[in-house]
Amino acid sequence: MELMDGRKVSKEILLKLKDDVARLHFDHVHPKLAVILVGKDPASLAYVRQKQKACATTGIEWEQFDYDEPVTTEVLIDKINELNTDDKIHGILVQLPLPEQVYSPDVIRAIDPKKDVDGFTAYNLGKMFINTDFEDLAPCTPLGVIRMLEHYKINPKGKEVVVVGHSNIVGKPLAMMLLNRDATVTVCHVHTKDLAFHTKRADILCVAVGKPDLITEDMVKDGAVIVDIGINRLPTRLRRGRSDGRLVGDVDFENVSKKASYITPVPGGVGPMTVACLMENTVTAAKRLNNINP
Ligand code: NAP
Repeated sequence: MELMDGRKVSKEILLKLKDDVARLHFDHVHPKLAVILVGKDPASLAYVRQKQKACATTGIEWEQFDYDEPVTTEVLIDKINELNTDDKIHGILVQLPLPEQVYSPDVIRAIDPKKDVDGFTAYNLGKMFINTDFEDLAPCTPLGVIRMLEHYKINPKGKEVVVVGHSNIVGKPLAMMLLNRDATVTVCHVHTKDLAFHTKRADILCVAVGKPDLITEDMVKDGAVIVDIGINRLPTRLRRGRSDGRLVGDVDFENVSKKASYITPVPGGVGPMTVACLMENTVTAAKRLNNINP
């Protein structure tokens, strides 16, 4: 079994991007990411910190706009409209989830697709359906999975790939990106009748659900590639005799890793790849907005 080391691979991506950013400076382009953060959810704060750190590593400029929880949809859209027309801003990221009173689809829709570095707008998602040439600003987590497979020379072409989870930001776009690479893709979700029937057939199994231990040893075939996208914080009290509040994925890593050929750890797998791909998208957006070939 080989561990797919997201920390190591993401560092390589960030170093390459640092060179790209330095080259852009010669053309007087200073890639800049604007981040909108609402409230003080500890997980959101941690994700934003990781993204800010990656910006510092690559030389991408960072501007953060913090709002208190009572903020309205209209206030956020006004800010996005301002950022859309600001030539110094190349990427706009709205940290999700937003509080209940805000209608997230309207907020996402307001982002100029050219600056939509999270790849969540209908325009960028729709383009991604065409083929790999149109995956300009693809959603960062699915893109991170693709970059991880590329790094370990795991070609999805002709493989049985099973994606568990069909959210608009992870499962669905990931399934489409794998289909674009000629995999035979099955998508499972909460209504799938016999999950194990499908997962056992997978050459590559990608899991994005948010349920610890959803995938157990008996549900995977020998030699499968396992991509665990889920991030779950265990309760601080008691889990198999442990009581540490640590982060785990959706896969029973300890036992499934004995059967897998490759597996991503959590933490240190897809998470850092997601952040690296956000940086990649920001640099891509900066190049495209300035008519520089990517
Ligand atoms: P989500 O919107 O809650 O989607 C979860 C998906 O799992 C849904 O399609 C849901 O189906 C399906 N599901 C729920 N229970 C299931 C079950 N028992 N069997 C099979 N499918 C089931 O979550 P998300 O935003 O896609 O995120 C999924 C996980 O990935 C979370 O743990 C999240 O923290 C993590 N994540 C990680 C990264 C990263 O960088 N590593 C990035 C984003 C998300 P229904 O919709 O039909 O209920």
